Amino acid sequence: MDFLNKVTVVPSLPEKIKGLKDLSKNMWWTWNYDSQELFEEIDSDLWKKVNRNPVIFLKQVSQKKLEAKSNNKKFFEKYEKVMKKFNQYLNEKNTWFNATHKDYPQGEIAYFCAEYGIHESLPIYSGGLGILAGDHVKSASDLGLPFVAVGFLYREGYFIQQIDKNGQQQSHYEKFDFSNFPVEPAKDSNGDELYVNIKILGRSVYVKVWKLNVGRVSLYLLDTDIKQNDPEDRKLTHRLYGGDHEMRIKQEMLLGIAGVRVLREMGINPSVWHMNEGHAAFLGLERVKEYVQQENLTFKEALEATRAGSVFTTHTPVPAGNDTFDFNLIEKYFSDYWPTLEATRDEFFDLGREQRPDGSQAFSMTILALKMAGRANGVSELHGKVSRGLWKHVWDGLEAVEVPISHVTNGVHSETWIAKELQDLFAEELNKNWVSELDDPDMWAKIDKIPDEKLWNTHVELKGKLVDFIHERVKAQRARHGETVEQLQEIKTIGDKNILTIGFARRFATYKRATLIFRDLERLEKILNNPEKPVQIVFAGKAHPADKPGQELIKRIYEISRMPQFKDKIIILENYDMNMARHLVSGVDIWLNNPRRPHEASGTSGEKAGMNGAMNFSVLDGWWVEGYNGEEKNKNGWAIGDNRDYEDTDLQDRIDSVSIYNTLENEIIPTYYSEDKSKWVKIMKNSISSVAEFFNTSRMVKEYTQKLYMPAAEQGNKFNKDGFRVTKDFAHWRDLLERNWQSIKIKVLTEHNTDEQLEVGKELNIEAEVYLPGIGPDSIDPEIVLARIQENEVTNLKTFKMKLIKEAQKDTYIFKGSFEIDERGYYGYNVRISASHPYMPHKNYLMGLVKHPAF
Ligand SMILES: *Cc1c(COP(=O)(O)O)cnc(C)c1O
Repeated sequence: MDFLNKVTVVPSLPEKIKGLKDLSKNMWWTWNYDSQELFEEIDSDLWKKVNRNPVIFLKQVSQKKLEAKSNNKKFFEKYEKVMKKFNQYLNEKNTWFNATHKDYPQGEIAYFCAEYGIHESLPIYSGGLGILAGDHVKSASDLGLPFVAVGFLYREGYFIQQIDKNGQQQSHYEKFDFSNFPVEPAKDSNGDELYVNIKILGRSVYVKVWKLNVGRVSLYLLDTDIKQNDPEDRKLTHRLYGGDHEMRIKQEMLLGIAGVRVLREMGINPSVWHMNEGHAAFLGLERVKEYVQQENLTFKEALEATRAGSVFTTHTPVPAGNDTFDFNLIEKYFSDYWPTLEATRDEFFDLGREQRPDGSQAFSMTILALKMAGRANGVSELHGKVSRGLWKHVWDGLEAVEVPISHVTNGVHSETWIAKELQDLFAEELNKNWVSELDDPDMWAKIDKIPDEKLWNTHVELKGKLVDFIHERVKAQRARHGETVEQLQEIKTIGDKNILTIGFARRFATYKRATLIFRDLERLEKILNNPEKPVQIVFAGKAHPADKPGQELIKRIYEISRMPQFKDKIIILENYDMNMARHLVSGVDIWLNNPRRPHEASGTSGEKAGMNGAMNFSVLDGWWVEGYNGEEKNKNGWAIGDNRDYEDTDLQDRIDSVSIYNTLENEIIPTYYSEDKSKWVKIMKNSISSVAEFFNTSRMVKEYTQKLYMPAAEQGNKFNKDGFRVTKDFAHWRDLLERNWQSIKIKVLTEHNTDEQLEVGKELNIEAEVYLPGIGPDSIDPEIVLARIQENEVTNLKTFKMKLIKEAQKDTYIFKGSFEIDERGYYGYNVRISASHPYMPHKNYLMGLVKHPAF
């Protein structure tokens, strides 16, 4: 038949429950289970079918069901309760931030990241970095920070993973229809749809901007897939971590440069600029450009103004994991750009210059970010230390222990990651408002009062949910492989909620050693197949499509999972995402993590598991170094191997794998299967309380605020006001020092015998003559540095001020100082001069202005 017209009819939301639409357009629902339940109660099959996407749900749900629910008294009461909570949340004035930081100057904290993991229905993330960013935004909203975030709305996101019947990973991409996402086009200050443009290789690329509400926070997402653009440029925001170096540099130009322009167009003028990982570092360049073009600052002044309000978080402890670009690429993409900064080519390249081991040079995004941000941090205590060592050459002349890269240990957003069943239990047994008391040890002390039975039954219920989930996924996979109906029947025997279950899910990067537990297959087979005490292991994770060794790991696990002796005991699930992560971290007993230390910056999946009572069994790397209490009596999990690093990786693998088998055989399995369940439940309780109390993003964002955001805002303000007077003075002074620094000469006048023995407490005096041409004694900090040396490494460093005694002749000064050593050991000491200025927020704020005597 011919039709006059064709139309899609969408349900019309009954007036009484029309607030569901607002709920569907704010990601707040993702961490408020009662609001998810509203959708689920209307049509639970559809809710699951649409991958818990409320926007699609409201397009597809039957009108009858909507009407019926809106007239159902119980449902309506729940709806009203949720809407009240939602509106209260949005309008809350009495937030942590407002209460704690009344003196905050003004301006937003702007957060830039290439990916955000907020919910599986918005797949614009790949893994840990994205999940962390999503959790950061959620907590920034909860705490009421004046926060705004910038990222990408990818047309295809990261890939969808399938594992074929040979164990080969297949990657697929799906094109998303943005009308199915809870995003709206962002508007400029005139109320028109916002577009910004950026020149890439001489061509204008237009960027459309989408706004996503995450509680009280706006997340602005960039999109170049619009008809105004060249077909090639439309692809720029298609894929996350897809493409080659040219794609990467263009994407990073978009994030950093167009990202800043987006905020400006909307009239947003942040006081703090947070680059989350090096991908965002080009934002510093755009800000320098703004200062040069709009405020008439010189390049060097603009750099100081930019640094003052910027924060950088590094996430990568492996040198090769840090983004670098060849100089010819930088030349190609930035030769039109650096003149607008009034920088010379050399000055521009210096911002990211890195010496590669082979002698060539490259432009490092991490170095650029370190130079653009006055404050930097790693993401766990150990990672902070590793980063100081890794980037110490940027602060030439400093020991690693002094490099000003601090750390804020990652956390996870507890309401997102703790299973609803457990959240209900906490509300009932600990505190109705357990979320707002998260960091209160007194609340967690009450966890021991939860009856063991109750916690255990809840856990078994969650294990049952995981088993159902596994059945569903494995069935879909094997049906795709063409297995027969009889073969598919066998799936029922996979997974058992009553046996000890180990989970291992993460990106398949080789350093994570996913197959370590298979080093001794015979021993493992005995462990898993003990008829009285069986064990099952569930694996999941993606390998980057370009990471062939990572894909080999998947293949190996898949093959083992299909060996008869490991039938039903080794399970590998495809397409790890946030939904699967939630099932796993709450439905297993043990969370296994065995990266090659110290390559795991933090890791967060173990934090999710730990607070769900799935205990960590992990290498002492990343967050677990801090999380593991090591107490025999009050155990909160298990450690693999020792708290040390290895040169010999094969030895490390051997030691760590043996440690895994031993601990499983001698501790974990016997405790789990002991007649007396209370011992196991006690460890669960210790895990939940110790992990939930500290490794949450509420604590983390508070720490970012206090350690990094507030000082950056303050310094940024100081550097920006009064016509940039402070900035100009400081830049001028720095320039003077840099020009004269080479000529400084230090001569130690006191004689020192090498290898002399000293007694604790004996005072030593040192006098030094310092030639300071054109600088003057007020601009420097003369000091004695005393370093404790252990195993050829400086493990501790103390400094002692030296006093000016006299000016010996023009530009030459005599300084004197003394020190004593108050603990036995092996030490080295020296005299040193570093730059000092009252505008410096901390010692070693500047790079390269440290001088030692020449010997
Ligand atoms: C939490 C999470 C991660 C990060 O976990 P790691 O411990 O850092 O490996 C990655 N992917 C998903 C889907 C997650 O939920």
